[in-house]
Amino acid sequence: MSSIYDLHTHTIFSDGILTPEELALRAHSKKVDCIALTDHDTTQGLAAMRHYCVLHNIQFVPGVEVSAVWRNITIHVVGLQIDEKNVALQQGLEHIREQRTRRSRLIAEKLERAGIANVMPDIVELAGTDAATRTHFARLLIQRREVRDMREAFKKYLGKKGKAFVSGEWAELTLVLKWIVEAGGYPVLAHPARYNMTRTKMHELLKEFKAMGGMGIEVATSSHNITEKKHAAEFAQHFDLYASVGSDFHTPANPRVDLGQNLSLPDTCKPIWTLWNA
Ligand code: AMP
Ligand code: MN
Ligand code: MN
Ligand code: MN
Repeated sequence: MSSIYDLHTHTIFSDGILTPEELALRAHSKKVDCIALTDHDTTQGLAAMRHYCVLHNIQFVPGVEVSAVWRNITIHVVGLQIDEKNVALQQGLEHIREQRTRRSRLIAEKLERAGIANVMPDIVELAGTDAATRTHFARLLIQRREVRDMREAFKKYLGKKGKAFVSGEWAELTLVLKWIVEAGGYPVLAHPARYNMTRTKMHELLKEFKAMGGMGIEVATSSHNITEKKHAAEFAQHFDLYASVGSDFHTPANPRVDLGQNLSLPDTCKPIWTLWNA
């Protein structure tokens, strides 16, 4: 039987709700053989995750999901097999977290103008940091019964057309790729279908991504339907990129997304793990 890989997951160190210990235990129970922890803009959870993966006999891939910008569009780049001790990478991530802090305050101000008071203290409690993500704001809005669910939180407040939308000032894509490559990692374009780009624009992005040192693209991910998976596999082939797979797991409360589920790759794909399993 072939191994189960899941190379895109989150813990409490960004917007996931499990600890590394709980994530590794769940991966074990879902029969995942190899897992990458890829929290947003931080490597804080990697040491603990490595420890618990060893306990459960799971192959561990140190990773990070970096928030980047390309032509004014927010792009997520997953870095796999990074050396988390790399200084340039850590300085870059710290800069992004400072931008998150700045943005958190602006989102809180906008929410207060919309009549939702005293947001920042609760966000810091929920996120454990003021460098929060929009997921944390969404959870707070649900807790306070301002909205019914995540969907409504993003539609009404946090998404592009929402009342409290603030765009993130992330790092330039070229810089992000440089940090990942210099830290010995493999840069992977996360969930390509999520950017709502035309085919032409996606081709421009991938051409530059590849030229700047990009190595892979997520083909199998929970945010792709069958058609989107097929398109991503075609992009991988066209640009000679390795294919990655990842659930983008955040929480056990979402029954549609779980560790290692529905992540099969089309036959045309070169799996990214052949880079380190050789
Ligand atoms: P941020 O990086 O702070 O802008 O937050 C982005 C995170 O918000 C993503 O990683 C997702 O986990 C979550 N997210 C974005 N859009 C949605 C949405 N429409 N519904 C639920 N979660 C979302
Ligand atoms: Mn997230
Ligand atoms: Mn993402
Ligand atoms: Mn993610």
